Amino acid sequence: MNHDASRSLYDRALSVMPGGVNSSVRAAPQPYPVFVDHGEGGHVVDADGNRYIDWVCGLGPLLLGHDMPEPLQAAVQSRAAEGPMYGMPSDIEVEHAEFVCRHVPSVEMIRFVNSGTEATVSACRLARAVTERNKILVMQGGYHGAQESTLVEGDADDPKPSTAGIPQAFAEHTIPVPFNDPEAAREAFETHGEDIAAVLVEPIQANMGIVYPVDGYHEHLRELCDEYGSLLIFDEVITGFRVGGLGCAQSEFGIDPDITTFGKIIGGGFPVGAIGGKTEYIERFTPSGDVFQAGTFSGHPVTMAAGLETLQYCAENGVYDHVDRLGQKLREGLSDIVADHAPEYTVVGSHSLFKLVFTRAEGDPQGDPCRNGCRQAPGCGRHDACPKRGTDVTRAETDRYARLFRPEMRERGILLSQNQFESNFVSYGHTDEDVEETLEAYKMAL
Ligand code: PMP
Repeated sequence: MNHDASRSLYDRALSVMPGGVNSSVRAAPQPYPVFVDHGEGGHVVDADGNRYIDWVCGLGPLLLGHDMPEPLQAAVQSRAAEGPMYGMPSDIEVEHAEFVCRHVPSVEMIRFVNSGTEATVSACRLARAVTERNKILVMQGGYHGAQESTLVEGDADDPKPSTAGIPQAFAEHTIPVPFNDPEAAREAFETHGEDIAAVLVEPIQANMGIVYPVDGYHEHLRELCDEYGSLLIFDEVITGFRVGGLGCAQSEFGIDPDITTFGKIIGGGFPVGAIGGKTEYIERFTPSGDVFQAGTFSGHPVTMAAGLETLQYCAENGVYDHVDRLGQKLREGLSDIVADHAPEYTVVGSHSLFKLVFTRAEGDPQGDPCRNGCRQAPGCGRHDACPKRGTDVTRAETDRYARLFRPEMRERGILLSQNQFESNFVSYGHTDEDVEETLEAYKMAL
């Protein structure tokens, strides 16, 4: 494949943008990232004219793939043509909010913002105001955006900022515990319970090689929050309207969080975030309440139109059946390939999420492949081999992932998410042929 145009764009970018990109992970595929020219269905075409099957799919927002169905395209174009935004309310915000409140059981009210990060920032502020407490309990290996309260590593006894630029004093208000470890969460509550404003958790950890919750884990967190008067915040930025259909992951798991953060799919490919939940909490945001929250672009009409049309399209078409079926087919095919060629590695994911991680977390590498990633599906013979914690996944051979990503997969025309730990995403634009071609490429690569 010729990459002259991508290489030359990257050279130019390096002198005017830090690392040549506008979001860290995009620079991961060295020596230069693919610069995209345009998307088509489940594919993208790069600046050199190379076509790829695209499993990045915008890192989650593009549930429908790169082609906007006709009503979505028409809605976006007419909203843009009517003057893109006003800084004043418009009808489409109300319609979108009503749609989400109608479909997500725990959401009675919603505030739209412009990114998942903004959503989790505001959710933490809200929980702190509601409870008049400071501490947020998070999961090791979880990701909640580029924000001060959650860019924290270490453990409950020794939390530290995970990046330069965050004061240690901020990290001291964050309690990282291992995911899927009910005892660790209980111990943290026993020590700090009176100070814990909220538990902030991804229903499925999708930024850490995809880690599925063990049975009863979220119920346990719900009980701890109730016992100690803390709020349960589900970060559904990735899982929202992808896992569990229009009810989101919370309806699939049967959990009633106090607050939910959204992003990605609800903007239909445009910048978005949202904080939803019980009226008594969400109404605490200004101007109805006392927790300051604002944004010039929040509820942007083009975004709202794209998001609402996307969700309506999902409600009227078999989008979830399609993406979940292809996800299952990818994971099963990949499990068979891994069993033959690389039994020391693990296929993870559920629904329309999939990933190959270069580690065997636990269990018996000779056992039958777990057909559904970390999901406890009937007949799953090797569930104990799937990762249960972020720390299981961080043992993965990241240098090996870099070699798989490029040259092996990229040069075979398959684009995967740029680092070892982030999920790949199946879209409605993908086909059975895309899955088959991808599996063939994995087979050759492994
Ligand atoms: N929460 C989760 C679970 C995420 O995966 C992400 C981003 N992938 C965010 C929050 C932050 O969203 P954004 O990048 O839109 O700020």
